[in-house]
Amino acid sequence: MTRARSEQQAIREDIFRWLDLRRNAGAYEFSRAELINYSFNGERIPLLDTGRGIRNPADFDSTLTIMTSSKKTEYSDGISPEGLVRYSYQSRDGGDNVKLRNAYNDADPLVYFLGVRAGYFVAFYPAYIVHDDPSRREVHVALDESLRFFDDPLNLKETERRYAERLVKARLHQPMFRARVLRAYETACAICELKHAELLDAAHIIPDSNLEGVAEVTNGLALCKIHHASYDQNLLGITPDYEVRIDRDLLEEVDGPMLRHGLQDMHGRSLMLPKRKAEHPSKDRLAQKYALFAA
Ligand SMILES: [Zn+2]
Repeated sequence: MTRARSEQQAIREDIFRWLDLRRNAGAYEFSRAELINYSFNGERIPLLDTGRGIRNPADFDSTLTIMTSSKKTEYSDGISPEGLVRYSYQSRDGGDNVKLRNAYNDADPLVYFLGVRAGYFVAFYPAYIVHDDPSRREVHVALDESLRFFDDPLNLKETERRYAERLVKARLHQPMFRARVLRAYETACAICELKHAELLDAAHIIPDSNLEGVAEVTNGLALCKIHHASYDQNLLGITPDYEVRIDRDLLEEVDGPMLRHGLQDMHGRSLMLPKRKAEHPSKDRLAQKYALFAA
């Protein structure tokens, strides 16, 4: 028995709201455990299917979520420059393609979970299936809602492509970057050690418009809001040897406790580094950015 269509829609909307709430509270990744324990009006509705990349609840007309594990995303996040991901349906299960095709035909919004490490995911929603190719047994999922309004998402016109690529950089790579950086720094500001995810950003050392590999942890720093803004504005610098410097004029200014403790007291501190050496911030990029501060 499938649920009433209106109830299916209500559940989808509630899932998006629930993810929003968690994200606003600072969550930068979702564990498998919390995703399989999502509940709607007291009824548990797992958002992931054990051992499978797709969640097709028996009482839903169409696919609820699609998941790509971290094994596949360790080196690239699998998002095309246009903001699409390809998902191949399993040939052994005839049900997958029926519900995927329903999601495509009915434009049902779903959640796309991208693995960021074993058992942890970032969520993209509402995502839409914008292309179905039964002969190749694959669909394309648009991770940003606006992408589904293109006439032919697999063959974008030049202006559409430029728009899509900008969007992907700004909106789609950011969640992966944030998850990787905050995890590497154990959810603490690298400068002041503040440990509230909702007050932390994944800051770029060099702005990502300059870069190919935007989600690289070595181009990132976990910083609290005030230190992130100070770093971007060159009021605060970090030497390639991981030492924090405060702008000279700012050091001489006299003001309240935020200036004194939040900024001036940081002068000369050593940056907190990720445990894994491979995740340490790039000295080259720190040097490039420090030159702007020192100038
Ligand atoms: Zn801080």
